[in-house]
Amino acid sequence: MNMAERLERTRERVAAATVRSGRPEGSVRIIGASKTMAPDVLAEAVRLGLSDLGENRIQEAIPKIDALAREGLQPTWHFIGHLQTNKAKVAAERFAIIHSVDTLKLAEELNARSSGKLKVLLEVNIADEPSKSGFTLTNPELPFSDTLLKVRSLPNLDVLGLMTVAPHSEDDSIVRRSFQTLAGLARVYGLTELSMGMTEDFETAIEEGATMVRIGRAIFGERNG
Ligand SMILES: *Cc1c(COP(=O)(O)O)cnc(C)c1O
Repeated sequence: MNMAERLERTRERVAAATVRSGRPEGSVRIIGASKTMAPDVLAEAVRLGLSDLGENRIQEAIPKIDALAREGLQPTWHFIGHLQTNKAKVAAERFAIIHSVDTLKLAEELNARSSGKLKVLLEVNIADEPSKSGFTLTNPELPFSDTLLKVRSLPNLDVLGLMTVAPHSEDDSIVRRSFQTLAGLARVYGLTELSMGMTEDFETAIEEGATMVRIGRAIFGERNG
């Protein structure tokens, strides 16, 4: 398959899952997770109509954003990786949405460094996996409700919703349950955006209410290394 075919196939699968979830087709945003992919690959995807791209690392992303801009391509850029606080300013300047706010310190830094309202999501480490960043739901010292209250009080941030990377598991019910937990949390707090679902699990995520899916390999093909 070439990229046009992979993108088309992905769109069909997203559309079918969206309809299965009882929502109108087109209501789930597909974000191309483009880490390690070269600028010309990204440019091709944007020309094929993929209008949202997600990058994981600032150093890698900025030259790619600039390269596409030189070709007159300005997709909506999402930051989806772990963000160091010393990169908060450039992230706030160059990205439309930061999906991966994973500490209070980072939220405060983004608030201090952004000039207008910066759209953010809070990353949640649903299953308390040591390898993952994100707020946990089990820290008695910092209940998630307190975290959210604090982040929502920061005047330059617009907290749209929650993001998670599901546990890697062959067992679909474990993956599904983690998406249900995130969706339940968003509902309790009146948050509308749910960034969840990747190549292996985006259909499950959409069935459980994802509003944004971050899809890499299904669109761009396997990554090298
Ligand atoms: C790489 C990545 C994705 C996409 O992963 P695929 O398995 O290639 O679809 C999604 N979200 C984050 C945070 C990622 O780092």
